[in-house]
Amino acid sequence: MIDSAAASRIRLLVLDVDGVLTDNGVYLGPIDGKRVEFKRFDIQDGLGLTLLRGGPIAVAWLSARFSEATTLRAEELRIPILIQDSGGRKVPALAAIIAERGLDWDEVAFVGDDLADLGVMERVGLPIAVANAVDEIKAVARWTTRRQGGHGAVREVVEAILKARGEWDAAVHRYRAVRETV
Ligand SMILES: [Mg+2]
Repeated sequence: MIDSAAASRIRLLVLDVDGVLTDNGVYLGPIDGKRVEFKRFDIQDGLGLTLLRGGPIAVAWLSARFSEATTLRAEELRIPILIQDSGGRKVPALAAIIAERGLDWDEVAFVGDDLADLGVMERVGLPIAVANAVDEIKAVARWTTRRQGGHGAVREVVEAILKARGEWDAAVHRYRAVRETV
C-alpha cells in the first residue's frame, strides 16, 4: 500500500521509460538500409495514464535515451511532458520541470528501474521501484510494484496512487461516463 499522506501530496507523476513503460527490450534492425527501432508498450499502462488526464496529477516521461518509438507512444497518450536527454542528466532535467511548474520535490512521484534513476529517486517525495528494478533502486523506493515494467507496472502505480488518495472510483466513473453515454 502507498501511504495516503504521501500520495495526497503528489501533483506530478514522472516515469522512466525503458524498463518501466517497457520490458527493457529494444528491437533494432535495418529496413531498406535504414535503422529502425521498435519498443513494446503495455495497453493497460496506457489506460491507467488516460485516467489521470485532466486530473490534479500531471504526467511526465523522463528518459536518458532518445527513441522515436517513445515519442510516438507519448504523443498517442497525450503525455504533456516528454524529456529524452541522451546525456542521462535526469536530476537537472526534473529540477527544471519542477521549477517551471512551481512544484516542490515532495510533490513528485517517480517510477524507476536502474541506476540512472537513483538521483531523482533520492530527491522526490514518493520514489517507486518496478518489480524488475535493480537492488539499489529498490533500496531507496518507498514502494515496489508487483508487476514488471512493460507488463502493467505503471497501471499498478496509477491505481495504487489514486486508491491511496481515495480517487480511484471517481476516476473509473469519469472514464466510463465519457465512453458509455449513448
Ligand atoms: Mg530504465
